[in-house]
Amino acid sequence: MASTGEEHLSRIPRLQVGLIGNPVAHSYSPRFQQAAFDALGIPAHYELWPTLPAELPARVASLLTPQCMGANITIPYKEAVMPLLDVVDPLATRIGAVNTIVHRNEYLHGYNTDAYGLLHALVEQGVGQYIDQDNISLRNYTAVLLGAGGAARSAAFALTGALIKQLIIVNRGLERAQRLAAEVQQNSECQVFCLSDPDFLMPHPASLIINATPVGMHSATGQGGSGGMSPLPAKILARFAPDTFVFDMIYNPTQTQLLCQARILGLRAANGLSMLLHQGALAFKLWTGQPAPLEVMRAALL
Ligand code: NAP
Repeated sequence: MASTGEEHLSRIPRLQVGLIGNPVAHSYSPRFQQAAFDALGIPAHYELWPTLPAELPARVASLLTPQCMGANITIPYKEAVMPLLDVVDPLATRIGAVNTIVHRNEYLHGYNTDAYGLLHALVEQGVGQYIDQDNISLRNYTAVLLGAGGAARSAAFALTGALIKQLIIVNRGLERAQRLAAEVQQNSECQVFCLSDPDFLMPHPASLIINATPVGMHSATGQGGSGGMSPLPAKILARFAPDTFVFDMIYNPTQTQLLCQARILGLRAANGLSMLLHQGALAFKLWTGQPAPLEVMRAALL
C-alpha cells in the first residue's frame, strides 16, 4: 500500500539541539532558536536539558547521537564542559568558556559565541564599526568593564580583539581582574580597579560601560536575585561624559536599575537582549551551516 505524505514526514528523523545548564527553565533560547528552525523549515526541536553536575559527562556524550546537532551551555557548565569535548576553538580556549557545542563528523566541537554576540550588539547600537564582513573595530573607545567572571572574560577578549583603545576592568575582587588584564593586554592598554575604588572614574572620551556582573538581575528561580540594585551608584555614573554608552548584559529585567540611572542622566543605554540574540545567531549558523534568520529570531524575543 502506498504511504501517505504524512506518514513519510513522520519518518524523517527529527533533529535535536538543546540547552544544558542548571537551572535552564528561565532561558529565552528555546523561543528564538525554535522560531529560526521553523522559519527555515529545518525539522529540529530545541529542548531544555536541565543537568545536575554528576550527569554532565553522560549528557555531553549523548550529543553524539546521530540526530543531535549539538547544544548551548549555560551556568554553571561553560568551563566544566571543555575537557569533555574533542576540539575546542582557539577563542573559546583563550576565554576559558564554551557556550556552544557542535556535533560534526562524530566529534564534539566547542565554541564561545558570547564575544561575537557582544560586539555585534554594540555595533547595532552605533558603537564601533565593521572593518570588513567579519571584523569590528572599537579603536577609539575606552571601556569600563564591570566584572571579571565568565561573561566579562568574553567581553575582555572581544573588546581587545576589536582593538579598543583602553580597557578598564573593575571587579569586586582585584586579583581576578588582574589575572584577566594580564591575559588580554597585548592589544590594548589595560587597567584594573576594585569596584570600591572610585579612581577608575577618570573621564574618558568615547566611553563605554559594560555591566558583566549579575547585579540587577532577577533570580532565575524567582527567589532572591538583585533586581532593583545597580553595580554603580548613580552619583558615580553621573561623572561620565554625556556621550557614554551603557550596556548591561542583563536582560531580565529588561530595564535594570543601571539602565534606569543611565537614561535619567541622558546617556545612551541598552540591555543584553541583543547580545543574547547575536550569540544565538552564531550558534545557529554553527549548527546548521546556514545564516540565521536574525529578524525572525529578534521578533521571537520581543
Ligand atoms: P560569573 O562568572 O559568576 O561572574 C560574576 C562576576 O560578577 C564576577 O566578576 C563577580 O565578582 C561579580 N559579582 C557577582 N556578584 C557581585 C556583587 N554582588 N557585587 C559586585 N560584583 C559581583 O557570571 P557570568 O557568567 O560572568 O554572568 C554575569 C552576568 O552576565 C549575568 O547576569 C549573566 O546573565 C549575564 N550574561 C548575559 C549574556 C547575554 O547574552 N546577554 C551572556 C552571558 C552572561 P568576583 O570576581 O569578585 O566574585
